[in-house]
Amino acid sequence: SHHCAPGKRQRLVLSRMFQPQNLREDQVFSLEGKAGDLTCKSQRLMLQVGLILPASPGCYHLMPYTVRAMEKLVRVIDQEMQAIGGQKINMPTLSPAELWRATSRWDLMGRELLRLRDRHGKEYCLAPTHEEAVTALVASQKKLSYKQLPLLLYQVTRKFRDEPRPRFGLLRGREFYMKDMYTFDSSPEAAQETYGLVCDAYSRLFDRLGLPWMKARADVGSIGGTKSHEFQLPVDIGEDRLVVCPSCHFSANTEILDLSQKICPDCQGPLTETKGIEVGHTFYLSTKYSSVFGAHFTNAHGDSSLAEMGCYGLGVTRILAAAIEVLSTEDYIRWPSLLAPYQVCLIPPKKGSKEAAATETVEHLYDDITETVAQLRGEVLLDDRTHLTIGNRLKDADKLGYPFVIIAGKRALEDPAHFEVRCQNTGEVVFLTKEGVLQLL
Ligand code: ATP
Ligand code: MG
Ligand code: MG
Ligand code: MG
Repeated sequence: SHHCAPGKRQRLVLSRMFQPQNLREDQVFSLEGKAGDLTCKSQRLMLQVGLILPASPGCYHLMPYTVRAMEKLVRVIDQEMQAIGGQKINMPTLSPAELWRATSRWDLMGRELLRLRDRHGKEYCLAPTHEEAVTALVASQKKLSYKQLPLLLYQVTRKFRDEPRPRFGLLRGREFYMKDMYTFDSSPEAAQETYGLVCDAYSRLFDRLGLPWMKARADVGSIGGTKSHEFQLPVDIGEDRLVVCPSCHFSANTEILDLSQKICPDCQGPLTETKGIEVGHTFYLSTKYSSVFGAHFTNAHGDSSLAEMGCYGLGVTRILAAAIEVLSTEDYIRWPSLLAPYQVCLIPPKKGSKEAAATETVEHLYDDITETVAQLRGEVLLDDRTHLTIGNRLKDADKLGYPFVIIAGKRALEDPAHFEVRCQNTGEVVFLTKEGVLQLL
């Protein structure tokens, strides 16, 4: 059988994937309850190909392809956070009410906070963010010295928010993944420097993903602090309204401006408006949280000083959906190359067709790719549904957006065999021998 050749690594085959394939539009509508709940392209496409399945309003099952893409995204995030000295931690989701009462956010957060009680009657929330928890954690370390600063702690965890209107699929869930970083510095100047460092890491991240982004001045909202920016992807369905100055590159969320503002506050040039999806948010918090929980460090004179803090969020599941929203056509999902769930899809001929003899050639190609191209190990998928025509399977592959689709048609029977290689991100189609394919990949 295709999925298990003796003495060989197991081949990944599509027929074994736990993934509903290609639902019709009406089937997708019925998944989300009513048609009106299908609110954007990424949500529709992700449901159609079975990347996500609704579990309850604002909560989704993430299916195998999506988990792979998310793990890749988390790896890129880890690289960028650790390149600036970030240390990864993981804090509990169950967050005791007393932490939130200490900052008054138990009341301020209102109905967005999902609250619950344990068997002893003790109150908790399911954490929507972790400023309180991380500050209490750092405050518990009494011997923190200025020599250990800046301290950059981050995590990638599920967050819970009882959104009044969960919608747009993964873009606005009630349960979602966030990367949140918290920084501790010895002075306001040092904290500003760290703020710049994290913003630069965010810029590099979005550049590496190949996504068009904007950094806009923003409101501090319920997190608080004195300085804040949002990283926004400009898209029509975005819920944020932004202004941009084409001459001096000032940009801001309209939340912080008088709306009637048509003139750039920096250069007095005319402002243009655009919509955006907020994918990241940075805050300079000063001592707002450290003063509440007593997060101190010992300074160069041996005295105790309050830590200067910053906090920095990235919407991990939101970035996945937003990338699909930005890069895809109405019919075909396209991913940032770094995040595509599988890099290569191989399509052998239909069973019983004239070219069926080329099936073995494709299996050899599969083994050669995974044995000689180390970074493609686990990245190649064989579409073994040979009861379907090549054309039908190509349509599915187009829809899912593998960066490379390799087809064995008539020319796979030539000596040497030639494969049709479709580079989905450039639209290029080339015919290559096995050696040519290995070289290209
Ligand atoms: P929004 O304005 O979209 O409600 P927010 O300002 O409330 O977002 P933050 O508190 O700044 O969100 O959280 C940090 C990041 O977490 C956001 O920039 C966003 O990328 C992500 N995020 C926030 N809420 C959600 C949600 N409901 N679903 C998915 N991602 C979210
Ligand atoms: Mg919000
Ligand atoms: Mg916001
Ligand atoms: Mg925000």
